[in-house]
Amino acid sequence: MITRLYKEFNKVFDSNDDIRVYFAPGRVNLIGEHTDYNGGHVFPCALTLGTYAAVKDRTDDKICFYSMTFADDGIIETGISDLHPSAADGWTNYPKGVIWAYEKRGMKLTHGMDILIYGNIPNGSGLSSSASLEVLTGLILKDTFGFESVSMVDIALIGQDAENNFNGCNCGIMDQFASAMGKKSHAIFLDTNTLNYEYAPVKLKDAQIIITNSNVKHSLVDSAYNDRRRDCENALKILQKTCGIRTLGDLSEEQFEDAKTALSDPVLYKRAKHAVYENQRTIRAKNALQNNDIPLFGKLMNDSHTSLRDDYEVSCTEVDYLVELAWKLPQVLGSRITGGGFGGCTVSIVETAAAEIFQENLRKAYQEKFGLNAEFYLADIDNGARRLL
Ligand code: ADP
Ligand code: MG
Repeated sequence: MITRLYKEFNKVFDSNDDIRVYFAPGRVNLIGEHTDYNGGHVFPCALTLGTYAAVKDRTDDKICFYSMTFADDGIIETGISDLHPSAADGWTNYPKGVIWAYEKRGMKLTHGMDILIYGNIPNGSGLSSSASLEVLTGLILKDTFGFESVSMVDIALIGQDAENNFNGCNCGIMDQFASAMGKKSHAIFLDTNTLNYEYAPVKLKDAQIIITNSNVKHSLVDSAYNDRRRDCENALKILQKTCGIRTLGDLSEEQFEDAKTALSDPVLYKRAKHAVYENQRTIRAKNALQNNDIPLFGKLMNDSHTSLRDDYEVSCTEVDYLVELAWKLPQVLGSRITGGGFGGCTVSIVETAAAEIFQENLRKAYQEKFGLNAEFYLADIDNGARRLL
C-alpha cells in the first residue's frame, strides 16, 4: 500500500521526497445503534479498512488535496486561512472542517501541505469513511504542527465538531472515537455521556464477524437522521418533566416503563423506547462478551435489529432481507443492521467454518430478489489512527 501511495504521490505532485504516511480506520459498530446522541453506550471496533494519507510540507500557504478515490476531481486547493464550506470543494470539506476546528481552538497552521488520500472503505455504507478522513486529518495536523496538547480523544472531538458544524451532519461521537481510539482485537465500550470507555477483547471462539454491504443507500438518510434526533429530543423533554434525567441513556427499562404514559405520541414513544432499550442491550452485550456468552451476544444483536426496524424505523427492505437470510442459517449467532441505516451494511457473527456458506447463500438469494450484488468484508479489528512512516 505504501509503495502505491509513494508512486501516486510522485505522479500527482512531482516529487515524493520527505513524505509522511498516516492511516485512520473505519469502524463497525457491534451494537448500540443511534444511542450515541442519546447519552447511551456504543460498542464499535476499528477495522483494517480505512483511509491513508501521504503528506508533504509546502513552503507557501496552500493546501493541495488529491484523493485517489475521487481522482476525477483532480487537485483541490485551499488557502490555510480561507476555510469556508463550499459545495465546489467536494470531499475536501471534511479535511477543511478539521483545520477550521483546530483554528477555532487557537491552533493555527503555519504553512501549507500537499495531501494525497487513498481509502478502501466503501463510502456511505455505514462504516464511517467520513469520520476516518476527519480523524486522519486531525492526526496529520497534530503531528505536522506539533500540537502536543491534543490527545487522540481530542482528535475525535475535533472531527465530530468538523462534521457537525462545518459539514452540517449532526452525528454523535461514536465514529470519530472508534477511528481515533481503536485497539487491535478489541471493541470499545464507550459511554457517550461521559466519554468513559473500556476495551473488551473480541473473542468469538469458533465464530467471526462478517460485514455484508447491501450496496443500497436510500436518499432519506440525512433528513431521517435529523428527524430521529428531533424525536428523541422531544421525547426527552417530556420525560424530564417527571424524571430527573439528562439523557435517554440515563433511564433503565423499568424507569422507562413507569414513565412512558407521558409519551402520548406513538412515534415519540417508539423512538425513546429504542434509545432506552438499545442502551441497556449494549451494556448486556458487553457483559455477555466478557463472559464468553456469544449466543447471548448474538441474540442481543438480533433484538437490536428488530428494534431498529420496528421502533426506530431506520432499516429498509433490502437490509431486512439480508438480516433475515442470516437469521435462518443455524451457523449464524447474530445479525443486524449497522451504521446510520436506510441501506448500508449488516454485521453478523458467523461460525468460522460456515463463512463461505454464509456468503454464498446471501449473495445468491439477495441477487435473485433484488438484482443487487452484496459484498462481504471479513472484519479484522485493528488499532486506531496512527502514523505509518
Ligand atoms: P460514511 O458512512 O462512509 O461515512 P458519508 O456520506 O458520511 O458516508 O461520507 C462519505 C464521504 O466522505 C464521501 O462522499 C467523501 O466526501 C468523503 N470521503 C470518504 N472517503 C474518502 C476518500 N478516500 N477520499 C476522499 N473523500 C472521502
Ligand atoms: Mg459519515
